[in-house]
Amino acid sequence: MPSLSPSLKSALSGASTTKSVILGRGGLTGLGRTFADRFPGKAAIIVADLNTWAAAGERAQHELTGAGVSTLAPHVFETSGKLKANADYARTLAAGLQDRDCIIVAVGSGVLNDLGKYASGILGRPYLCVPTAASMDGYSASGASLLDGGFKRTLPCPPPEAIVADLDVIAAAPAKMAGWGYGDLAGKLVAALDWHIADALGEDRINPVPFALVQDNLDQWLSNPLGIAKGEPDAIEDLISGLLISGFAIQAHGDSRPASGSEHQFAHLWEMEGLTVDGNPASHGACVGLATVTMLALYDHLLAADVVGAARAAIALPQPSEPQLRARLEALFTLDHVREAAWLEGKAKLIDVGMLRARRERIAAVWPDLQNVLRARFMSAADMAAKLAATGTPTRPEQMNMSIESLERDFHRAQFVRRRYTSLDLLRDTNLYDTLVSRTFAPSGYWRNAA
Ligand SMILES: [Zn+2]
Repeated sequence: MPSLSPSLKSALSGASTTKSVILGRGGLTGLGRTFADRFPGKAAIIVADLNTWAAAGERAQHELTGAGVSTLAPHVFETSGKLKANADYARTLAAGLQDRDCIIVAVGSGVLNDLGKYASGILGRPYLCVPTAASMDGYSASGASLLDGGFKRTLPCPPPEAIVADLDVIAAAPAKMAGWGYGDLAGKLVAALDWHIADALGEDRINPVPFALVQDNLDQWLSNPLGIAKGEPDAIEDLISGLLISGFAIQAHGDSRPASGSEHQFAHLWEMEGLTVDGNPASHGACVGLATVTMLALYDHLLAADVVGAARAAIALPQPSEPQLRARLEALFTLDHVREAAWLEGKAKLIDVGMLRARRERIAAVWPDLQNVLRARFMSAADMAAKLAATGTPTRPEQMNMSIESLERDFHRAQFVRRRYTSLDLLRDTNLYDTLVSRTFAPSGYWRNAA
């Protein structure tokens, strides 16, 4: 079995829950031993769908029994189309396993991993994950993104205790799935820019180890989009490593900040509102990819703006009252559950007038240095779009069943998705929101000119 790269090893050592990872060609051959070591005396139950059963599930079952692990009959979701990320499936699964002394082995990508993770969380048991595509960073992260009451929510549950990733399986997944994973990784660039802002303002200090785990390797992970499109083994290994390490950085930090900034706020908004593309729920990584281009186009204008002057001019500006905020959210959000979530997050952003004044003074004081830090890390929207396009990931709103106009409107909605301080909050605090968003969408701006 190939040994783990130094970066993956160091990421794993800081993970709070995950204890063991196998990553390499033929990785599945290590499944039985890993399961037996981690869960001595326990039975295994494979959770898969028809596709992932064929891709890896059957082999996984064979490897487990070959290592002397007792197995229950696999739970295979027999759907003709794409398996729905329905939290009720996980609840039913958990109820059925309540009286069986077994551990779930989730074989699949986003949906199956989330179903297995959430069912295990309900049962209060650890689980093992066998990723079948390099499509998102949720394999090694806590929380499951599932439809609950018809809408996508992040339901709390622990990450897997062990991950067995076979590169032969992952490289055989549909090429567009690797493009989604690349989109999820691309977002880490905006996440870093946003964290630098929150750090400089004293809102949310950078946690050096999780930050470095992602950012020290990100350029390497994003360096070979064509190789990813072609399914080259080295490129796919870099991609899945990056996705796993991002999840471990989340585990080490305790929340998703190392892997998620304003770009994920757009993605979560679209997911919560049930965006579909070609009749299927939009994939997470494709949402993050488009949102990353969207935020980089905005950053281009932010980095050129007179932020110091704007912060000073805004020093005494009032913030909305709670009733004004409520009225604004009524106008911005039509779906009740999204509006209520936005209300909780938006209300948390209303701060004491004195604190707001101090924050604006601090923006004016730190911006010259902060601007240099951000410029050093910045990549243009056009450059990022070219990389994403090389992997086949959407870079334009029309490819995601959206118009340029709705993307512009979403700028005013995404800021309410999370209370976490990002560049969107800096725009609000400096009163630059409308000006810079309009510039991005103006006839001379990125969206009206990018091919
Ligand atoms: Zn993500």
